[in-house]
Amino acid sequence: MKLVAAALSSALLVVSCATVTPEQTLVNRAVEAMGGAERLAGARTIAFKGTSKYWEPEQSDVPGGEPRFANETTFSGIIDAASRSSRVDNIRNYAYPAPRTFTFSEVVTPEAGYVIGIDSNGRNAQNMKSNPPAHSMSGLRLATTQRELRRAGSAALILGMQRNPDGVQPAADINGQPALSYDGFLVAFDPLTGLPSRVRTLDYDNIWGDVTYDVVFSNWRETGGIRIPMTRRYELNGRMVAETNLSDVQFNTPIDTSRLQIPADVRASAAKPAVRNVPYQWVLRRQFIGVYLDSDNASYDTRGSQGLRLQEVAPGVHQVQGGSHNSLVVEMSDHLIVFDAPVTDAQSLWLVGQTRARFPGKPIRFLALTHHHMDHAGGLRGILAEGGVTLVVGQPAGAHFRRVLDAPATRNFDLPARSYHMVPILEVPESHVMSDSAGRQVVVYMMMDNPHAKGQLMGWIPHAKMGYVTDVWTPGPPLPAKPNPGLASVVNTVKRAGIEPERFAGGHGGTADYPMLARLVGN
Ligand SMILES: [Zn+2]
Repeated sequence: MKLVAAALSSALLVVSCATVTPEQTLVNRAVEAMGGAERLAGARTIAFKGTSKYWEPEQSDVPGGEPRFANETTFSGIIDAASRSSRVDNIRNYAYPAPRTFTFSEVVTPEAGYVIGIDSNGRNAQNMKSNPPAHSMSGLRLATTQRELRRAGSAALILGMQRNPDGVQPAADINGQPALSYDGFLVAFDPLTGLPSRVRTLDYDNIWGDVTYDVVFSNWRETGGIRIPMTRRYELNGRMVAETNLSDVQFNTPIDTSRLQIPADVRASAAKPAVRNVPYQWVLRRQFIGVYLDSDNASYDTRGSQGLRLQEVAPGVHQVQGGSHNSLVVEMSDHLIVFDAPVTDAQSLWLVGQTRARFPGKPIRFLALTHHHMDHAGGLRGILAEGGVTLVVGQPAGAHFRRVLDAPATRNFDLPARSYHMVPILEVPESHVMSDSAGRQVVVYMMMDNPHAKGQLMGWIPHAKMGYVTDVWTPGPPLPAKPNPGLASVVNTVKRAGIEPERFAGGHGGTADYPMLARLVGN
């Protein structure tokens, strides 16, 4: 009898252990609402079509202003569940930074990624050498693309949560909806329908620090017994940055798996998905505007450049070269002035290391930003973390950068978190002179009529007769046949300032003679 009681109580124990947790209840309800585990698991192939629109908040005209409309994309794709491979064919029409169309495909397997065609103005060496153009994805892009495929793959995500209950953890409600943590995501559920409503990651943005990045599912439609969100809005800190509308989804139609193959020679040297320190927002959003440099170093093409170097371009004037974005360093009697802090804090930390070795005893005292865009300002914390640095920006960027520096930045894998609350910000309405005890000067001028950004500054180093500009002129490559508004704004600013530059250095490119530009614009 005792034995029977013991057996009975242990059976009860098993039953109570198997009691469905609140987390499992949420997941089970979502699986049922989407069509049930059997149907979801039975989706062996998916074919889909749709359109997307993208916006970029940190390439705005006004600092902190309206996000820039970036592009409109038409796409079709296939997914093969067995090989966990996918392909998306894109036709992407850009509005920014210049109107153009890129037609390209992305093939993603668990081990490698492959880009067929041209998808960026910042093509890497492998893409340019390949005929027709193609390249393997960097490990950073592959990890980012895989993450976004998992985020968007609502059915596989929810089924994965059901199948891996140990990987599912409770999480705080999101916008009043119950949420769970799983596989790096926070998944919220609609209490009315039971369907997943939002999939969030806690990302790091080089301008705004700690940010949320969400896909918001809506417009659910049933296809082959499976319910799929046809509309997906992407929100960065609650602001829409992308919207995708699926027009057609088909399950278990035959797909041509040869289109999921990556050529063996490409696969052999392709990067594996990066497992740590992935700058997801940089990788994603540089693609939004079609300028992403697909490389495992965010600053330069690891297959096409020896890396960054600090090059003297005039006495006491040094330009960072070898990467996609430059800084300029001016040596003063007892300190340094740096123009621009591009890309990431990793690049800034590299620059700080270079300046310490090259100019011992001369700390950076001023960081002057030509403008607020994320690619030229995203490394500001890496310079400001030195302490004793004044941030110099054009009007009206001052209040914007105060908000930026007050935002929490605890997820920055390049820099430990610290407060930037006390960093002095100098906002320049027209011009400002920075002098040293020996009389050397560096001047910044507001570029009043430039077409690129409000509050844009030009640098001027009188002793070297050298100017510095970013994004309005790229010194080095041949000048166009006709002037454009950016080039005209350089010449107009020079005239208004009453200065006589011999050369300019750029935030892109290298250096070039100024008189040729003046002649072009003058004609
Ligand atoms: Zn810019």
